[in-house]
Amino acid sequence: MAGTTDKLDPNQPLSAADIDHWHAETDVLVIGYGGAGACAALQAHASGAAVTLLELASGSGGTTALAGGQIYLGGGTPIQQACGFEDSVEAMEAYVRTAAGHHTDDSRVQAYCRDSLEHYDWLVSQGVVFNPQFYGGKHTNTPEYQSLAYSGNEKGHAEQQLSQPAPRAHKPKAHWEEGGATLMATLTAAIAATDIDVHFDTRALTLICEGDTVVGLMVRQDGEQRAWRARQGVVLCCGGFIMNRDMVARYAPRLVDGTPIGSPGDNGSGILMGMGAGAAAINMHEGFVSVIWYPSGEFCKGVFVNEQGNRFINEDCYHSRGAHHCLNQSNRKVYMVVDSDIYTEPPMYSAAQVVEVAETFADLERDAGFAEGSLSATMDTYNRYAEQGQDPLFHKSEEWLRPLNKPPYALLDFSIDSGIYYPSFTFGGLETSIDGEVQTPTGQTIKGLYAAGRTTAGLPRTAEGYASGMSIGDATYFGRRAGRAAAAR
Ligand SMILES: Cc1cc2nc3c(=O)[nH]c(=O)nc-3n(C[C@H](O)[C@H](O)[C@H](O)COP(=O)(O)OP(=O)(O)OC[C@H]3O[C@@H](n4cnc5c(N)ncnc54)[C@H](O)[C@@H]3O)c2cc1C
Repeated sequence: MAGTTDKLDPNQPLSAADIDHWHAETDVLVIGYGGAGACAALQAHASGAAVTLLELASGSGGTTALAGGQIYLGGGTPIQQACGFEDSVEAMEAYVRTAAGHHTDDSRVQAYCRDSLEHYDWLVSQGVVFNPQFYGGKHTNTPEYQSLAYSGNEKGHAEQQLSQPAPRAHKPKAHWEEGGATLMATLTAAIAATDIDVHFDTRALTLICEGDTVVGLMVRQDGEQRAWRARQGVVLCCGGFIMNRDMVARYAPRLVDGTPIGSPGDNGSGILMGMGAGAAAINMHEGFVSVIWYPSGEFCKGVFVNEQGNRFINEDCYHSRGAHHCLNQSNRKVYMVVDSDIYTEPPMYSAAQVVEVAETFADLERDAGFAEGSLSATMDTYNRYAEQGQDPLFHKSEEWLRPLNKPPYALLDFSIDSGIYYPSFTFGGLETSIDGEVQTPTGQTIKGLYAAGRTTAGLPRTAEGYASGMSIGDATYFGRRAGRAAAAR
């Protein structure tokens, strides 16, 4: 079999009996050199295993290196303390559990939060530097070198009933959106200081099984197919599937019209390989989605309405929650009402177009084609309460609450079909134990097969509850657990 150039289906594992030549052998074979794979390899190596890391690109990084690099950590990290914030494991756990909503995997939430301080220390021990500076503005990432920020709905009305809010997004010390690249450069240097065997330009094609146990992998390398044997385990850390448009159309059709963000490696191959070996893939319909109306925070003072002229969200919520609700409105039509005080040139990413301008809400309603009395009633109610510093319908915080009473008024189009930027990536993937052991649909463990990061259904489960940092936090922490478990097998 080895040495041919036959096209293999990732969903069809090979039988070890058909392999006439093993190209190489190792203890733990990690596939994918992004955040999850780097951490799996480092932890498996630290546990005493011989580790080989295979990556289809010509360098390390994956989507992790393209990311802003925020990592969701808490419970009282040294950075939180240095910036004067109190946090506890209990508060973090209550928040993260709410964030996952009814999709929650409680054992995963518990492990992640209870080990958060240990994971912080481990990242620092690998060379990751965090800068003890807090950024408090309304933004998608810290705009300069600050390492700490609020990154989700921690200060939301419902969330505050459950736990004390604390900023938990920890960005490695780096300028603006360079946190992910800095993180990966650091982890790559840590790996280079070990004898982990790294191969680039090497694409995993399909798993190799001996009975019901995964024992290796067929790869394409140097233009030929080669079989690699893994004595203890194969760890799939191949990212998600947002770049595989057929898979998105099939499993996550809600994301089809969004703008896919990620590396070309997010092609679903890890998930397909796992499914081929009998794994369950869960939460496949869910994904991160965003529409960006801040920075600046001025538009948080605006009012989102649907085509019925009704409000549907507190406009100071995290952008992913906002986008989730925008996509839930009828015909996915959403607009923002602003007055002349808060209108600025559309913020840096979104460039929402002005569709109507008028001197009164009644005129705006008529000219934009809303039903008579709909939009104007919404705005009258909003303004009446805002004058009293209240938002009884959606609980926008006082920080962003003010009546819109400075005409002219404008209506901005935030509908997905307006061409506005709706970045998206997938949350669904292989079902695993918290130690990365891949599970079948009936809950059996597939021997020899592990997975972590966006190849799995991990910690982040919904756009509605998502906070920046939950993906890299999940990939790095559960990557370590998967690597350790594979090494111990
Ligand atoms: C612009 C942007 C900003 C983001 N910002 C943040 C943020 O601030 N915080 C946060 O938590 N999340 C953020 N995310 C999401 C986050 O970056 C990812 O979800 C996370 O990094 C995924 O890590 P991973 O290790 O699972 O995958 P990756 O980092 O993508 O690694 C997977 C690797 O596997 C390789 N691979 C794939 N298939 C194969 C194969 N068959 N054979 C060999 N190799 C293969 C890929 O080439 C890739 O290198 C952001 C995403 C984007 C796109």
